[in-house]
Amino acid sequence: MSDAKISRSTFLLETREVVKHYPIRGGIFLRPVASVKAVDGVSLYILPGETLGLVGESGCGKSTLGRLILRLEEPTAGDIIFQGKSILGYDLRQMRALRQEMQIIFQDPFSSLNPRKNVAHIVGEPLFIHGMTERHEREDRVLKLLEVVGLKREHMRRYPHQFSGGQRQRIGVARALALNPKLIICDEAVSALDVSIRGQVINLLQDLQEEFGLTYLFISHDLSVVEHISDRVAVMYLGKIVELADSQSLYKVPLHPYTQALLSAAPVPDPKWKKKRIVLPGDVPSPINPPSGCRFHTRCLYARDICSQQEPALKEVKENHLVACTLMPSGMEGL
Ligand code: SF4
Repeated sequence: MSDAKISRSTFLLETREVVKHYPIRGGIFLRPVASVKAVDGVSLYILPGETLGLVGESGCGKSTLGRLILRLEEPTAGDIIFQGKSILGYDLRQMRALRQEMQIIFQDPFSSLNPRKNVAHIVGEPLFIHGMTERHEREDRVLKLLEVVGLKREHMRRYPHQFSGGQRQRIGVARALALNPKLIICDEAVSALDVSIRGQVINLLQDLQEEFGLTYLFISHDLSVVEHISDRVAVMYLGKIVELADSQSLYKVPLHPYTQALLSAAPVPDPKWKKKRIVLPGDVPSPINPPSGCRFHTRCLYARDICSQQEPALKEVKENHLVACTLMPSGMEGL
């Protein structure tokens, strides 16, 4: 079904033109003199039960977007809709209820777990905060959660330093599941793990999704992991989505020149399969002063004069395949 035909009422989450600019202050009065444009007008949606992958180089704004969705930071502009309601005006009581529905798994399982608390406390804490005050009740639930993520009863009294990286990430997953959330934001959740452990945690996330009907926003710079786990994938460059499509068509036929370059640089498992690497000229421009028009024009191999003058909108160029490029679809033959 084309994106335009999907009713908004079916979205679990929607971001509408979300912007996050961080002011840079200077002078003796510390007035704002410039701003870092971390996220600049991002609109996307996530359907219940799906995994939306979000990829891009470091500093493109993908983790900031995840934090804005959870309201760990406030957007500068735009709106975030969860289950049909804007969450930006929520008061403390409403936010507390929302925290049950949306959780996050962080990249570094070690620094995201309190080293002074044991597993029973770490996983049980959200339950306590949300009203499960009876200790035995909490511990029963923690035990069930540990079993769900493949840990054992004896792990309950251990501390984070007594676990391997993969086990620590399982503790992070158990904590995220504690309140039966609908949406989990996985922010580089497997990036710090060894390849074999990474596979185990990804399989665990997929099994849990099937069992509990979870929805994931999977943020990663690792393109192969994102391809494996995602139903749809959004590609970000300098605070904007430049391409969004279902995983298969994006990986098979990437249309945006930036996505083509990203995928050409991704390692392939077969050493005999040589693919042509696209080397982009220059560095990623500063988000303080992003290029005019298409933000990618300073590095794009196909850039023309119009690219620096006209900002391309993200539009559907093929069914379910959105691209932000001025030359598409009419100029596609040239790319
Ligand atoms: Fe390249 Fe121009 Fe398309 Fe931007 S709009 S991706 S610069 S061809």
